[in-house]
Amino acid sequence: MTGRTSTSSAMKAIILVAALCATLMGQAPGASHDSAEKTPKLLPGLDKELMDTTADPCVDFFQYSCGNFSKLYPIPSDRSGYGTGSIIADYTEHVLHSMLDKAAASTANRTPSQQKIGDYYASCLNTEAINQPGLKPLQPELDRIAALKSKQDLPALLAHYQLIGVGAFLNFGEQQDFKDARKQIAVVDQGGLGLPERDYYFRTGDTPQKTRKQYVEHITNMLKLLGEPEDKAAGDAQKIMQLETALAKESLDITSQRDPQKIYHMMPVSELAKLAPEIAWSRFLTDTGVPSVSELNVTYPEFFKGLNSLLVSTDLDTIKTYLRWQLIHSTPSLVLPQPVDEEAFDFYGRKLRGQPEQRARWKRCVAATDGALGEAIGQVYVAQEFPPSSKQATLQMVRDIEAAMDHDIDTLDWMSPATKVRAKEKLHAVADKIGYPDHWRDYSKLKVVRNDAFGNTIRAIEFENRRQLAKIGKPVDRGEWGISPATVDAYYNPSMNDINFPAGILQPPLYDKNAPDAVNYGHIGGVVGHELTHGFDDQGRQFDANGNLSDWWTAEDAKRFEEKTDCEVKEYSSFTAIDDLKVNGKLTLGENTADNGGLRLAFAAFLADAKRKNIDLNQKQDGYTPIQQFFLAHGQSWCGSIRPEQMRLQVQTDPHSPRQFRVNGVVQNMPEFGKAFGCKTGQPMMPVNACRVW
Ligand SMILES: [Zn+2]
Repeated sequence: MTGRTSTSSAMKAIILVAALCATLMGQAPGASHDSAEKTPKLLPGLDKELMDTTADPCVDFFQYSCGNFSKLYPIPSDRSGYGTGSIIADYTEHVLHSMLDKAAASTANRTPSQQKIGDYYASCLNTEAINQPGLKPLQPELDRIAALKSKQDLPALLAHYQLIGVGAFLNFGEQQDFKDARKQIAVVDQGGLGLPERDYYFRTGDTPQKTRKQYVEHITNMLKLLGEPEDKAAGDAQKIMQLETALAKESLDITSQRDPQKIYHMMPVSELAKLAPEIAWSRFLTDTGVPSVSELNVTYPEFFKGLNSLLVSTDLDTIKTYLRWQLIHSTPSLVLPQPVDEEAFDFYGRKLRGQPEQRARWKRCVAATDGALGEAIGQVYVAQEFPPSSKQATLQMVRDIEAAMDHDIDTLDWMSPATKVRAKEKLHAVADKIGYPDHWRDYSKLKVVRNDAFGNTIRAIEFENRRQLAKIGKPVDRGEWGISPATVDAYYNPSMNDINFPAGILQPPLYDKNAPDAVNYGHIGGVVGHELTHGFDDQGRQFDANGNLSDWWTAEDAKRFEEKTDCEVKEYSSFTAIDDLKVNGKLTLGENTADNGGLRLAFAAFLADAKRKNIDLNQKQDGYTPIQQFFLAHGQSWCGSIRPEQMRLQVQTDPHSPRQFRVNGVVQNMPEFGKAFGCKTGQPMMPVNACRVW
C-alpha cells in the first residue's frame, strides 16, 4: 500500500511510503478453519500448471500466464481475494504459527522475548477470557466520555485517545519533516471517519447508497451492543453519520493526499490555535506527552478550520455519542467479545469486501502478534528462515538493478544533463535494506500479561504510539524499518530515500534459488525495480537524494516528465475494473510508474547478467526462451483473483492497480515483450502507442 501506512494497529504515521502490496488479499479482521490445516506449498519460480496455454499471449498475457490459477487456487471463504502473494503469506503464517505455539506452550525457561510473543499469542487465542467480562474492559473509557462536562474537556480526552489508537476527529503523530529529512516533527492530520475514505460519504448510485445504509445499520448495532435501546441507537447512528459526513466534506480526497505539497503546512502551534481555537492545542500536546513542540505540520489546514466550526455547532451529547462509537470502532474487535467481533466483521469483511467468513482465530492472532511485536518474532524468524545466501543473492540483484538505472539515466533522450546529474545523485544515495534491521527494537518496557488480551493490545498500541512520538525533536534513525521482517511486502520511503525488502518477500516464487536467472529477474528483479522506481515516480521525484522535498528538476524536464506520465494516466484510466468502474489513473500513477519502470530495469539488468554469463537467449528451456521466461515470471508474480466487492473497494481506495493490469498494463508498454512472443503491432499487448516514463 502507499500513502499513509501505519506500522501496527497503532497511530497513523504520516509518511508517504510507497509499497508493492504483494499480497493484496484484503485482510479483514478475520474463524472457520482449524489449526491442523496443513502448511501450504510455495510455488516454484515458474509454474506451467498455472498457465492457460489456450489463450493468446499477445491478446491477454495475464490470462496466458495465470489463467489456471483460480481453478487450482479458488479464493478461500475466509478471503476477499487470493493470489501468488497470498500463498507466500499463508506459508509464512504457518511458520510463525509453529514458532508462536512453541513460545506459548512452555512457560519455563523462556527468554523475555519468548515470554512476550508466547503470552501475547496465547492470550489472543483465549476467547473464554475475552468473552467472559463482556465490554467491562471498555468501561473506564466509557466513564471518561460520560464524565465530559463541557467541550473544554475534549483536548485531554482526544490526546488520550490518540495514544490508545482511537482516531476521533483527527490523527496526531510524528513524521520526518518533508523539507528537512534530518528532523522528526509532530503532525496533525484529518481523521475521524469510519468509512474507508471521504468519497464514500458522497458518491451517488445504488452501491454507494447501499453501503451508507449498511454502515448506519452497523453503527446502530454497535451502539446496541454498548447497551443503547434500539430506538435511541438508530437515532444516534443517524447523528453520527451526519457528523462524519460533515467531517468528510472538510477532508482532502485520497488522490490529493498522495501529493506531498498538499499535505505539508508547517506552522507554529499558535497559528493552529487560530485555525481551530475550539481545541486547546497546548493542553492536547502536553497530554500526548510531547510538550516541547513549537511548530508542527498541519497537513491540511482547511480541515482544521472545518473541524472547528463543527465542534462549535455540534452539541456535547452528539459529540459524546460519536466518541463512544469511535471508541468501540477503533478498538481491535479481536479482543472484544464475540458479538462485537462478529458485527465488525459483518460490515467491514462481509459487506465491504465480500468475504464470506472470518479468518480462523489463530491466523488473526498470528497477525496481531506480528503487528505488536514484529521485531521480536522477526529475530527468531530470520534466524530460522532467512539464510545469509538469500541476503547475498538479493543484494546482488539490487546492485544489478541500480546499475541498470544508472545506465538508463545516461540514455534518456528527454532529460537534460543537469537533471541527470541530480537524478544520479539521488540514485547513488538510495539505502538498500534487505531482510531485517541491523538493530532490533527493544520491547522490554512493554508489559505482556498472560490471559489479558485486551490489556496487551491496548498496551502494545500505546507503547508503539509513544515510541513514535518520542522521536519528535530527535535525530532520525536511518536503520529503522517500517514493516516487520516476516511481512510479504516491500516499500520505498522518500524521506529516508531507502528501499526495503523484508525476509518475508524473499521467498519462492518471487525469489527461488532453484529457478533460472531469467525467472528470478522477472519476479524479484521486478520487485526491486518497482521500489527503486518509486524514488522517481510522480511523488518520489519531488524528494531529493537527502530525502528532502525540493525541486531538483529543470522546468523543461519536469514538463516532459509530466507528459510521459500523462500517457500512463490515460492508459490505466481506460481499464475497466468491474461493471462500469474504471481504474483511477491518477490515484494509481505512482504504482503504475513503478510497475513499468521496475520491469524495464529488471529486464535491462537481466540482459546484462545474461551477457556476463554468456547465456544463449535463443536457447529454449522447458519450451520457453529465457526472455519469455522472464515475462512469464513477471506475469506469475500477480496471479490471482478477487471478489467483486473487494475489487470495488480496491479501485476506490488503493493506489495499486488490480492485478491483471499490473501484468497487461506493463507488457503492452514493452515492445521487447511483443517481440519475444511474436506479437503483431496493433494487437492488445503490442499497441501502436506504448507509454514509457523510465
Ligand atoms: Zn509500490
